[in-house]
Amino acid sequence: MKSPVHRCRDVEHGRGHSGSGGGGGTHVGTNCLVPEQRIPISKDVITASAASAMWFIKDACGIVCAIITWLLVLYAEFVVLFVMLLPSKNLTYSIVNGTLFNTLAFLALASHLRAMCTDPGAVPKGNATKEYIESLQLKPGQVVYKCPKCCSIKPDRAHHCSVCKRCIRKMDHHCPWVNNCVGENNQKYFVLFTMYIALISLHSLAMVVFHFLYCFEDDWTKCSSFSPPATVILLILLCFEGLLFLIFTSVMFGTQVHSICTDETGIERLKGETGKWGKVPCWEALRAAFGGPFSLAWCSPFSGLGCGRGAPEHVAVPQGDIIEEDVIEIPLN
Ligand SMILES: [Zn+2]
Ligand SMILES: [Zn+2]
Repeated sequence: MKSPVHRCRDVEHGRGHSGSGGGGGTHVGTNCLVPEQRIPISKDVITASAASAMWFIKDACGIVCAIITWLLVLYAEFVVLFVMLLPSKNLTYSIVNGTLFNTLAFLALASHLRAMCTDPGAVPKGNATKEYIESLQLKPGQVVYKCPKCCSIKPDRAHHCSVCKRCIRKMDHHCPWVNNCVGENNQKYFVLFTMYIALISLHSLAMVVFHFLYCFEDDWTKCSSFSPPATVILLILLCFEGLLFLIFTSVMFGTQVHSICTDETGIERLKGETGKWGKVPCWEALRAAFGGPFSLAWCSPFSGLGCGRGAPEHVAVPQGDIIEEDVIEIPLN
């Protein structure tokens, strides 16, 4: 029996192999974690299950996209406030629209943060050990699958994300705009993010139309604190941004709600993996995704999804050696 360090050296020198189907389990798969990366399971289990644990994907492209998202919302905020509402002579119009727009923008950004910093349902890394499989107490003939990339035992409907470098339960897709996977645990926040962005886009488009009409009727020099050409450019840019995001986010929102209602993730639809599990009715699936019976909390990015999700994966098991096979069948004896 080799120590984990010896196993790693085998891998480094290209002698390690995986998925050969042999029963010995004496090698670590080529893509498996090196000892420094291999987090002890009990610790990883805590990281994955604790709601308070910070989750953040260190992906340059995703971080840039997430920053662009915030800058675009802040641009809309600037134009709405400083070009349209503050120079307006109608105080009621400014207060009502200002409150509505700022509330929706705040909820959109809060949903974005929650979607980005919530563990989407990552399966503990490196739990494909004999001890863990034994702890699952599977029935004879049952088959479990190991992910050769993150060396975890894949639960049903989990998929490996190459950006997050983890297997994610009920992974729908990896969204660079929220720099995270959309999965079982953060789909609600992603749906809310798309909904609030669609709503602020619609609202700002309506305000741009009203403001153009107001400027045409009134003197162009008095309808904004900026010069008429600057006002027109700022409004047209906001119009473009609003239209683009209204289309993009409302399509995304519709697709996500459809996915939840049909109990079928984007990846499953893509891979044609539908119908392999007992589907739950639409209303039940919505309740599961939004964390409880229908209430205002469904629209709040601040209400959590409750504890106890995916509990079987979160049982602490002793650290052991990663098994070699990618498909493990429990013997019938
Ligand atoms: Zn994986
Ligand atoms: Zn991902």
